This record gives sequence, structure tokens and C-alpha cells, in this order.
Amino acid sequence: MTALAPRTRTIPVSTAPAAVAVRRNPRTALWHAAATAVIWLTSLFVVALWIAGGGITATLGLNAETLTTIGRLAGLVSANLLLYQVLLMARIPLFERGFGRDSMTRMHRFVGFWSFWLMGAHIVLLVLGYAAAAAINPFLQLWQFIWDYPGMLLATVGTMFILLVVATSIRKARKKLRYESWHLLHLYAYLGVGLALPHQLWTGADFLSSPLATAYWWTLWAVAAASVLVFRIGMPLLRSARHGIRVTAVERDGDSGVTVRMTGRNLNRLGARAGQFFVWRFVDGAGWTRGHPFSLSGVPGPRGLSISARVTGDGTQRLTRLRPGTRVLIEGPYGHMTGAVRKGTKLLMIGAGAGVAPLISLLEEQRYAPGEATLLTRDHSEGDAMRQDAIRTLVARRGVVHAQLSGPRSPGASSWLSASHGAWQGPELIHYLAPDIGAYDVYLCGPVPWMDSVIGDLKKAGVAADRIHSEAFTV
Ligand SMILES: Cc1cc2nc3c(=O)[nH]c(=O)nc-3n(C[C@H](O)[C@H](O)[C@H](O)COP(=O)(O)OP(=O)(O)OC[C@H]3O[C@@H](n4cnc5c(N)ncnc54)[C@H](O)[C@@H]3O)c2cc1C
Repeated sequence: MTALAPRTRTIPVSTAPAAVAVRRNPRTALWHAAATAVIWLTSLFVVALWIAGGGITATLGLNAETLTTIGRLAGLVSANLLLYQVLLMARIPLFERGFGRDSMTRMHRFVGFWSFWLMGAHIVLLVLGYAAAAAINPFLQLWQFIWDYPGMLLATVGTMFILLVVATSIRKARKKLRYESWHLLHLYAYLGVGLALPHQLWTGADFLSSPLATAYWWTLWAVAAASVLVFRIGMPLLRSARHGIRVTAVERDGDSGVTVRMTGRNLNRLGARAGQFFVWRFVDGAGWTRGHPFSLSGVPGPRGLSISARVTGDGTQRLTRLRPGTRVLIEGPYGHMTGAVRKGTKLLMIGAGAGVAPLISLLEEQRYAPGEATLLTRDHSEGDAMRQDAIRTLVARRGVVHAQLSGPRSPGASSWLSASHGAWQGPELIHYLAPDIGAYDVYLCGPVPWMDSVIGDLKKAGVAADRIHSEAFTV
């Protein structure tokens, strides 16, 4: 391990940087741009269908019909976005590889909130428009919609489910819920989207306005439903059955961690790479259906798979009680923090807590000369540090330089450092560890706020965005 001397010089806290947004690497940015373009273009296509169906003309009268016609448009765009929502979370391998999980989750959140607000506008405008046309109270109109129009009762229940999902996704509410409860509620969104379909079919004038419109909507619905069935249910079950993965050993890893080793058939045909993660289900009794994402903590291959987890709650506690022979179901591999995105010759790996796991697998897999790979680990305490045996082997056999920071966080500008090294400026420390920084790729893994702080300093140290590769352990 390299000695990373604490400094005595103090750092003025007033230099603390403002929050820095994570910049995407160009490949992810390209995917992001392509997906955004598809979502925008199809939304415009839906608007075009609405115009072709006489939408604009119908709004010109500035009367009740104006409200209902704009309401229909809001409903169409909302339905379009809702279906993309489903597609974004269907874990389609092409999307998962292209975007990366973090980017997908951000996009899912953004599209989700827009589809919800447009759905709200759709309901309000249609109620007001119809009420004005019939010269009745809007509440009476709403009541009539729900009871008298085909498919509307189902759509109302669907809307309630979607409302529940949106309300529990607001950050403050989300923090108060256990992950499992939030996730279960979130699954109701599928039911919500499904229940909204019949009213579109039976009463949606624009849905059936032309053969082109009908073909578009049916195709989008079919693709979304098939993607969920194939990629979230069918393929994981098939792959799990094909590889027959079972636990072989469970080892303690540091004071509060555990490493689980597994074996299976033809694991080299899994197509997994170091740095990726799977969603794992261990069939060890009641509650096995709850999947947890864990990164591979060693190179995946014919000899087996391994994961290393910090014990934080029920799900990770369970890992410590697994018995050899326990059957394992997998979803994945996911994630694009692999060697494929590497551009430089040298490696700087920065990991916090269990975030060291995928970095170890990358260090075991990747090529570099002795001294050309540096691993910086950050832990609450030295005893907490995980994968120490693997790190010692990498230092001894591959010439990896290892620096360890532990203890409470620095009160200085670079909060990702430990207080023991708070006299360092983050960018300065990065240059100390990687003097010819232009030759390096930086791989980063840990909790989001910690990663944001590291990324801010990496940028200040002059590391290009396309040389920073990260995976957040947060959903
Ligand atoms: C892509 C990815 C890779 C990860 N890799 C690792 C790893 O290699 N090692 C490791 O120790 N941890 C990893 N994590 C975090 C790990 O999934 C959670 O710590 C674990 O699921 C916690 O479960 P729990 O029931 O023990 O804890 P809880 O106390 O129930 O939850 C602690 C926190 O973990 C998160 N969490 C809980 N359940 C899930 C779940 N099913 N899916 C996603 N997040 C959940 C929630 O944000 C929650 O606040 C990874 C997370 C992600 C998103």
C-alpha cells in the first residue's frame, strides 16, 4: 500500500465548490440524444396525426371544443410518453448497454413526470370542455365520464395507480419508504398503464382516427408489452435455467461485508464482463422473489462468479446465511462500466465501501503494466475495508498501487476525502496519484453524493468527461 501522508496545511473551507453535475461520456451522450430524439419525434408524430385529424381547426372556435381538442392532444402525448416509460424500464439489453443504468433512471424520472402532468391536463381539459358543452357542473361531468363512458372506470382506477406511483416517487416521500415497499408500489404503474388502454381503444377518437394512427398505437403497445414479458420475465428465467447457478461459498469480507461465490454451467456464455452487475435472487426461502443488484467482484468466467456486499439491511443480511447449493436466479448482465469504454493506457480506480467490488474485477481483467494502475479505496474504518485479499494479490502480482483513506469525511472542500487527509485539495491528490493524468481512465463507484464530489475534483484536475466511467450503487 502506498503511504498517503496526511498534510498539515489547512484548506480554506470557503473554496468549497458548488454542486457539480455529472457529465456523461460521449457514447452515453449519443445514446441519450438518440433516445430523446425518438421520444420527441414520435411525440411530434402523434401531434401530426392530431393535426391531420382536424385538431387545429377544432381549436379555432375558442369554445368548449377547444378545451376538449387540446385535452385529447395532451392525452395522446401523455400515452406516448407512458409507453416509452415502460420501454425504458423493460431492461432491453441494447438500451442497458447504451445508456447505462444511471442515465436510464434519470430519463425514466423525467419522462414519467411529464407523462403524468400531461395526463392531468388531459383529464381536467376534457372534463371542463364536456361540462361547458353540456352546460353542467364539471363534477357531474366527471361522474358521468367515470360511470357512463366505456373503459373509463378502468382508466380511473389506472390513473389512481399512476398517481400513487408518482406520489411515492417524489424524493421526500421516497426517502421515507422502505425500498421494497416503494418498489412494490412502483409495479402498480404497469397495472395503471394497462388499465388505461381500453378507454383509448373504445373512446379515443384520435387513436382510431386513421389506419396509420391505429397501426402506430397498436405497435407501440405491443412492443412495450412484449419487451416487458421477454426482457423482464422470459429471458431472465431462461438464462437462469440454462446456467443453473448455485452458491458454492459464503465468506466474511471485512467487518461488515460478505462475499458470495457461485458456480454454474457454461458461465463464459453469459456474456458478462468485469465491472457489470446482475439483479440476483437467491432461492433460500420466503422472500426470495425480491431481487437485489450487486456488481461482480471478480472476473466472471468458467470458474465462477462472485459478488461482495456491505451488510446494510434484510437483503444483504440474508446473503450471510446462504448455504452452498442454494439456487440463484439472475437478471443481467447490466451496466457499461467495463473495459470496453477504456481509452487510455493507465487506470485510476476510486471506490467507496462496497464500491470497490466492480473495480477489483476490472483490475483483475484489464491489461496494464506494473505501476500503471492505482486503486484508491475509501472506507468508514480500516476494519470495514472489503476485498482486502484480492487487493493484496493485485498489489503483489500485478503491481497495482493501493492507497487507502478511512475514517470520517473531510470537512474541507473535497468531502469525498477522509478528515485525516482533509489538508489535501482533491484535485491535488488526484495529480499526486496520477501525475500524467491524460494517460488515465478513471473508474469510480460508490454512493451518488460521494461520486458527485469526486467527479467535481476530477474535472478540476483536468480529467476529460469521456475518461470518467462510473456506476452508482443507488436507484
Ligand atoms: C447497479 C447497482 C450495483 C450495486 N452493487 C453492489 C455491490 O456490488 N455491493 C453492495 O454492497 N451493494 C451494491 N449495490 C447496493 C445494493 O443493491 C443495496 O445495498 C442492497 O440491495 C441493499 O439491500 P438491503 O435489503 O440489505 O438493505 P436496505 O436497508 O433494505 O436498503 C438499503 C438501501 O439499498 C437500496 N436497496 C435496497 N434494496 C434494493 C434493491 N432491491 N435494488 C436496488 N436498491 C436497493 C435502497 O436505496 C435502500 O435505501 C448496488 C446497487 C446498484 C443499484
